[in-house]
Amino acid sequence: NTEEIHCQGCGVLIQTENQNEAGFAPKSALDREVVICKRCFRLKHYNEVQDVALTDDDFLKMISQIRHNQGLIIKLVDIFDFNGSFISGLQRLTGTNPIILVGNKVDLLPKSTNKNKLKQWLQMSAKELGLPVQDVFLISAYKGVGMERLKTAMEQYRKRKDVYVVGSTNVGKSTFINQLINQSTGVNDAITTSYFPGTTLGFIEIPLDDKSSLFDTPGVINRTQVAHYISDEDLKVITPKKEIKPRVFQLNEKQTLFFGGLARIDFEQGLRQSFVCYFSNELTIHRTKLDNADELYRNHVGEMLKPPNQDTIAKLPPLRAHNFRVKGKTDIVFPGLGWVTLPDGEATITAHSPEGVPVSIRSSLI
Ligand code: GDP
Repeated sequence: NTEEIHCQGCGVLIQTENQNEAGFAPKSALDREVVICKRCFRLKHYNEVQDVALTDDDFLKMISQIRHNQGLIIKLVDIFDFNGSFISGLQRLTGTNPIILVGNKVDLLPKSTNKNKLKQWLQMSAKELGLPVQDVFLISAYKGVGMERLKTAMEQYRKRKDVYVVGSTNVGKSTFINQLINQSTGVNDAITTSYFPGTTLGFIEIPLDDKSSLFDTPGVINRTQVAHYISDEDLKVITPKKEIKPRVFQLNEKQTLFFGGLARIDFEQGLRQSFVCYFSNELTIHRTKLDNADELYRNHVGEMLKPPNQDTIAKLPPLRAHNFRVKGKTDIVFPGLGWVTLPDGEATITAHSPEGVPVSIRSSLI
């Protein structure tokens, strides 16, 4: 039957097919008088926001409604996957509303990271992608680090208007909003009482005061996220769980490092130097001669060079080479995986990453 049912909590169209997508409700829930989606159900009963994914088109349509309202936009990104977690076209869609950029998962960075440089890099990268932002904050939603400063800034920038939190899937948006809810005393009550706002935007609404609210928008899927190409098991390996321990390799030219079998860096030319690798502590790094690298990959991807496991291999695009001539202390960034820091000096490098996941370079953060 084709009758359309909308969630009484957020207004999204109810579907019973896919648990991880917007509007999911179990079939049994359709018999109830008031139907709410799984996400609203969790918010109502556990005070917990659960993220769901929308396709780009649906998301952009939804988000473009923000331009008709006034308010502050909080754009959340994963600092380990800036490109993968960046939603392009946001500026065009959100009108003239102020935007603050929040880099999440700062707890994973080694202590030696220069936070100011990281903030500058985030701000500049956003600008290059066409999104000028008012301010940049670094937080750990998970550990609650940086939340106070962000909340103070949020109050200043929003000028008593609404706040919209946007971000791609997996940036930690649910963790962030749950942290906000838990930290703000009194808000818990507000959610359960005025939690059926009946908004037609499909956003979850969390009241901030009697005139304004914070809206959680659905997470958008970004195709350049390496997470989309790999199995759940592999995702666990490449996602750092605690502070990253840099691993150092002294390389001569014509040597190669493999990061599992998901990325690779060839030292084509330059003086012997250290390659400092910042990746999940669980990801194996393998050194070999450049001359042997192609063959090693062909023969051992999925075994010695792992992840990818077999599930991932079935959907992983082939590795693509990107050439760089670097000068001065430089990071070679593999979005969603990590980065490699080269010391001050000159080097010619070939970096390989799955096609569609772009490698970039930046002035070193350490
Ligand atoms: P969402 O899809 O954007 O809602 O993301 P989630 O909140 O579900 O988080 C995605 C993953 O990132 C989960 O495994 C979280 O535990 C993890 N995560 C979220 N915030 C942080 C953080 O501040 N630090 C770390 N280390 N992990 C985080």
